[in-house]
Amino acid sequence: MTECQVSIVVPCFNEDEVIERFHQTLVVVLETTRRSFEVCYVDDGSRDATREQLRALAAADPRVRYTSFSRNFGKEAAMLAGLRMSRGDAVILMDADLQHPPSLVPRILELRQHGYDQVVARRDRSGDGVLRSVVSTAYYRVMGRCMDIDITDGEGDFRLLSRPAVEAVLALPEANRFSKGIFSWIGFDTVSFTYHNVSRAAGTSKWGGRRLLNYGIDGLISFNSRPLRLAVYTGLTLFSAALAYALWIVIGVALHGVRVPGFATLLTAVVALGGVQLATLGIIGEYVGRIYFETKHRPLYVVRETDVSVRQERQNIA
Ligand code: UDP
Ligand code: MG
Repeated sequence: MTECQVSIVVPCFNEDEVIERFHQTLVVVLETTRRSFEVCYVDDGSRDATREQLRALAAADPRVRYTSFSRNFGKEAAMLAGLRMSRGDAVILMDADLQHPPSLVPRILELRQHGYDQVVARRDRSGDGVLRSVVSTAYYRVMGRCMDIDITDGEGDFRLLSRPAVEAVLALPEANRFSKGIFSWIGFDTVSFTYHNVSRAAGTSKWGGRRLLNYGIDGLISFNSRPLRLAVYTGLTLFSAALAYALWIVIGVALHGVRVPGFATLLTAVVALGGVQLATLGIIGEYVGRIYFETKHRPLYVVRETDVSVRQERQNIA
């Protein structure tokens, strides 16, 4: 096996408008770094010409390898497949839409030279919609409070992982993969720098509001059990409030005798309690659902075609 210093892992979903341009830019930059490299593309079940383009790129250049999924399995699955494919001493994860500028790669590699196992390029929020940046900022603040691991705003998947860090990521068996959390969880010496946000070169973002919301909930649930504790606390608080109110009524009856009204209070209590119970059940359900999913032990993606030798894939999976 030829030695390879750097693997670039690129998940692609319907990126036929930019993939050529991305590839040309990337290769030019990589060649200036004078390191041996490979580029691992993962086509996440694109419905456009992405797969054909990747096939052509791989045929034209032995440093290019690709894997194509049988359908869209999501970016997390695509990144995982890419990491499994990679053979380099260091792996850089990048988006195909040029939002992760290839021009930053030399800087990332230089930081790796200083001994860091994870080098994170975090973007500032310039150019983001107002609503999106407000919501994200708030979300990361809540996450910061709730989670036992650190997740920083703007830190995406644009990062370098050393081989030991990659192996650590691959050693995590969970099916519900929340990469931001995983990267933080594995630890290692990490350094980050900020770059100016760029917008997508072409095509459209695959992250609508709904997808982002689901992703947000995944993040909260995957890495801690605090929502469950929150449910317990809410229950206890309500119970104490009910006890206090009962006491209040008892004293009232002792002092003034029985008075009948109280219909509104009763209704409010019933409705409020019902709401809390449903919410709590929902939280429990989120966890149970995940347990169910994990116990199925399904593979996280199905490969339709690849130029990677089956033997290597097996080794990596084993
Ligand atoms: N992507 C993917 N599978 C998906 C959605 C996205 O592999 O289901 C890839 C996409 O091709 C791109 C990267 O993940 O290379 C980031 O996606 P996008 O640019 O849509 O996200 P955003 O930059 O808006 O967060
Ligand atoms: Mg993008």
